[in-house]
Amino acid sequence: MTAAARNSLDLDAFWMPFTASRQFKAKPRMLASAKGMFYRTPEGAPVMDGSAGLWCVNAGHGRPEIADAVHRQLMEMDYAPTMQMGHPLPFELASRLARIAPAGLDRIFFTNSGSDAVDTALKIAVAYHRMRGEGQRTRLIGREKGYHGVGFGGISVGGLVNNRRLFPTLHGIDHISHTLLPAVNPFSRGEPDHGVELADDLERLAQLHGPETIAAVIVEPVAGSVGVLPPPKGYLERLRAICDRHGILLIFDEVITGFGRVGEAFAAQRFGVTPDLMSTAKGITNGAVPMGAVFARRAIHEAFLQGPPEVIELFHGFTYSGHPAACAAALATLDIFAREGLFTRVQSLEAAWTEAIHGLRDIKTVVDIRNLGLMGAVEMAPRDGAPGARGYAALTGAFEAGLLLRATGDTIALSPPLIITEDQIGEMFATVRRVLEAID
Ligand code: PLP
Repeated sequence: MTAAARNSLDLDAFWMPFTASRQFKAKPRMLASAKGMFYRTPEGAPVMDGSAGLWCVNAGHGRPEIADAVHRQLMEMDYAPTMQMGHPLPFELASRLARIAPAGLDRIFFTNSGSDAVDTALKIAVAYHRMRGEGQRTRLIGREKGYHGVGFGGISVGGLVNNRRLFPTLHGIDHISHTLLPAVNPFSRGEPDHGVELADDLERLAQLHGPETIAAVIVEPVAGSVGVLPPPKGYLERLRAICDRHGILLIFDEVITGFGRVGEAFAAQRFGVTPDLMSTAKGITNGAVPMGAVFARRAIHEAFLQGPPEVIELFHGFTYSGHPAACAAALATLDIFAREGLFTRVQSLEAAWTEAIHGLRDIKTVVDIRNLGLMGAVEMAPRDGAPGARGYAALTGAFEAGLLLRATGDTIALSPPLIITEDQIGEMFATVRRVLEAID
């Protein structure tokens, strides 16, 4: 897109998601093209991608292998239904995904996005108990500060007040405590030392509601959208143990942490804790085509196969479940991940990443820094009477300085494509330092 074309663009009709749109439209920040680690503005200025788009472009931008695969597939067959019909790609993709999945999670349901994947996982959890004659297990447990997309299920188990306050939420939901403990875990590197006991909040809710009424608990292994909260040491193991004790399903929402972000294919593998269901999206197609996937333990899938074979087993699905173009993009993406060793690449970058992000600690507005894998957050104190102003100044200042980052409140988050080099990590944090130091 040329600068002239941009200037003649009518900005009114597009109702923008999660955006202060009047503020944006008064001074738009536009991206026009992308390659590797960089976007370019319509004027041609490079913008380093410090957020992998929205935590999704894990293999870097403009991969011709993905574009070619999608083009070939659209020319061969643009669309085919997967309801009572099939085409080869989703079967092939599901088999490939099953091979890289955490042990035993080898049954895969395709969705269109992370939000759909979350709501699908929640529905499967409740229906699974019903299939096994435990229909009283309908209660779902989320976690404060959790983000699970924007469906009614996702906002109900989610724990971010602004995403909930305008909307009705599902009944029979409760939340365990969040794990942000700045007083005892300030400037934590990787998994914080303190807070394992916060997992016991699940036991408290089990005793409050009756464990036999709870279908599932859903958590992000590392909370992303709220500003990168790695789990306290031992926390996920303890959640797993409580779930096992009471027959509660454990759902990991790996929409951000999946596909290499934390140094393994999935966070479940990094932490050595295997959930019963896992929601994924984003990196599955490198962000090139919308797609999500729910991974289920085989026994969960088998519970649906008990009735007569001519009866539909799960009354759930999307027109675009297993869309040919999305499957083609995902298969090409998996090839890139494998060829370039991207799932484990973060292991070799994590030490440099940790040093670089914690190097910002001396900046006067910074009150906390947290990181794990190739995810990191820098939290600034709110300006008196103007919460969020520093975060917004960081977003706009970074963009002007040629860096894309995420800002939530006064916390900035960084999660670049996994192809980033150590030198580029250095450059990125040099820019972040200049930007944050300029904010009063
Ligand atoms: N779950 C988590 C953990 C996420 O981070 C997100 C998006 O950021 C979602 C679900 C929702 O995904 P989508 O925006 O694709 O619906």
